[in-house]
Amino acid sequence: MSIKIAHVGVAVNSLQETLRFYHEVLQVQEKGITEVERDGVTVAFIGVGESNIELLEPLGPDTNVGKFLAKRGEGIHHLAIRVDNVAEAMARARKHGYQLIDPEPRPGAGGTTVAFIHPKSTSGVLMELVEGEPQH
Ligand code: ZN
Repeated sequence: MSIKIAHVGVAVNSLQETLRFYHEVLQVQEKGITEVERDGVTVAFIGVGESNIELLEPLGPDTNVGKFLAKRGEGIHHLAIRVDNVAEAMARARKHGYQLIDPEPRPGAGGTTVAFIHPKSTSGVLMELVEGEPQH
């Protein structure tokens, strides 16, 4: 098994406000801004080598990221790890007693397949398993 960091998800109040830092200081552009209605977010990906920073702005206060911001404020929301096979990683997680959020692998951003593991069972870090390279 070889794993990589697919992306680091960051919850933000405003993509436009947050992107100023990437434009003004790091002088990089986002790959695009996409609304993912199923997850209740608007997403901007910033390429960092083979990985990305995924900026997440909630579509409303009742979304998962909206609730996260109300409770914890802006900051790192999840860590996405690229694995060879999400279904097999989920089966191992289930077998060893980790708490899965998604019952089955599901479509993620850019044509990937993803599943989330609850932070209660992974030392406080919401983990996203990702299979496939995102197409932006
Ligand atoms: Zn993510």
